[in-house]
Amino acid sequence: MDEENFNESFSTTVDGNITTERLTLKTIFNFNTWEDFRILQPIWDLRIGYEYYLCSPLFPIVLSVSFYFLCVFPPTLVDLFGREWAWYQKYKIQNNKEVTWKHVRQAMMITIWNQIVYVLPAAMAQWIWVPPNPLPERAPTLFEYSWHVMACLLLFDFEFFVWHYIHHKVRFLYKVVHSVHHRFYSPFSLVTQYMHPWELFSLGIIQTTAPMVFQCHPMTSWGYMTGAIIVGVDAHVGFDFPGLPHRWAPFGWWGGAPKHDMHHRRPNTNFQPFFNHWDRLFGFDCPSVKAGNVRPKELHEYDLRKRISIRSKCKSS
Ligand SMILES: [Zn+2]
Ligand SMILES: [Zn+2]
Repeated sequence: MDEENFNESFSTTVDGNITTERLTLKTIFNFNTWEDFRILQPIWDLRIGYEYYLCSPLFPIVLSVSFYFLCVFPPTLVDLFGREWAWYQKYKIQNNKEVTWKHVRQAMMITIWNQIVYVLPAAMAQWIWVPPNPLPERAPTLFEYSWHVMACLLLFDFEFFVWHYIHHKVRFLYKVVHSVHHRFYSPFSLVTQYMHPWELFSLGIIQTTAPMVFQCHPMTSWGYMTGAIIVGVDAHVGFDFPGLPHRWAPFGWWGGAPKHDMHHRRPNTNFQPFFNHWDRLFGFDCPSVKAGNVRPKELHEYDLRKRISIRSKCKSS
């Protein structure tokens, strides 16, 4: 097909007359000047016709809850039905621990209870009192989208790190609140939101306010929220799969499932949910156990250093 035919292949019928609309970059990306050009515009234009629902204050909550269940559903099925799949199970970190129906039921009950008793009334209050959020015509630029998503993840990660440290160090907060999440020594995807309502509420506030700090475009906020859910589930999935970001991220910057698995084994280490720069800076970073419960050399060295430091403290006291 030559260029002329390709451009004229998009036809519409108006009042019985056939008119030809030229299919060009400008019609696809819906812009007049190059300053207006947004590579994400075709994706943002998918909102057209659904603005009433998308600008509702309920939408981000519905998106978060439904996307969370969508993310945990496949790994939960595999946890339950893939126990005999050797090719899959060789990537399990705590391969001596099984996810049973009892674990899944227990985690599901708390998750659904929290959604019905706490999230639903909060959503209703938002629906009644928060006005609809008008949606802009233009999509964000790719640069703005990328740096805003990254900035929100970094901010949320830092705030979570501080929250997490405090909820381990203040005895009352650990005992009453955060110990609920630590009931599972060996994490699996549904443990991601197995938590005390205060944890769900306070982390929910921290998570949803990050895009407000950077005044993000709604598309960016939704991208960040779904991204944060994926990363949270990835941290709890309990598998050290090849190809996941913790295997290839530069400088081992990405925590992923192995680091968070270690946090559930040794709760005073690896407080960061996504990355590990603050853990390294403050000395909380602990090398993780790999697929198949393999303890790497770094972990042996780490344990040796800890033992020597405890012995020398005992001698000096
Ligand atoms: Zn956890
Ligand atoms: Zn913890």
